[in-house]
Amino acid sequence: MQEEISRRGFTILDTAGSNHLSCFICGRRREKLYVAPSKSIAFAYKYLGLVIKTHARLCSRHLINDNSEIRESEFINIHSTRRYFPHETVRMFDLFCKFLNLEETPTIFEPFKNLNTLNEFHCKQITSWTVSEFIRFSSYLTSWKKSDGRDKDEIIALYRYYMKKGLTQATVAILRGNTSQREISRYLEQMRHCINQDFVPYFIGIVNRNREFFLSHQTPTCKIIFKLSDEILVLLADG
Ligand SMILES: [Zn+2]
Repeated sequence: MQEEISRRGFTILDTAGSNHLSCFICGRRREKLYVAPSKSIAFAYKYLGLVIKTHARLCSRHLINDNSEIRESEFINIHSTRRYFPHETVRMFDLFCKFLNLEETPTIFEPFKNLNTLNEFHCKQITSWTVSEFIRFSSYLTSWKKSDGRDKDEIIALYRYYMKKGLTQATVAILRGNTSQREISRYLEQMRHCINQDFVPYFIGIVNRNREFFLSHQTPTCKIIFKLSDEILVLLADG
């Protein structure tokens, strides 16, 4: 790796590689490329310390539906190099950032990212569970791998709300914001898999039911055919 040499009067910043002809995120050459949205350029500098040049171009698939912003999950895929910027320019960048207000309106799922501050009423409204019920359920799901954009508790809340309200995935994507229908589909599938693996085995299956439960489901037919008493349990194996 080339060693960075400090230059008098210059600051080194991570800078996204870009040109007019190809997408600066995936590198593809396309006929139709969009100019990087200003809001995302500001966001990248303020929160990620990354410079995206104003002439950078990208494909529409990295943008949210109205093309006004780059999806947050895409920032991780941006290749950057270290570039020199005059101190004065960087001071100006920093100064503008101080007055830049990019705060988003929190989505209905965001409060679940911090269970310590989660409000009881909100939890009930979204998941139909109390906070302690929510925490209990969440503690079962140990195989969930946290990664950018998919906090376990937020996705549990999203999954519950999706099931409870019978919404379409596209609607859930709008509610979550900055998310595509395909991403929602993937989150739901991952959550379903996680619940099936970590939660279901504790509550469903033969080991979780007693003898009386199975006796109560026995139909009179088999008792009559085989002349069995009420205490005899019949199991049919079809193979
Ligand atoms: Zn692209």
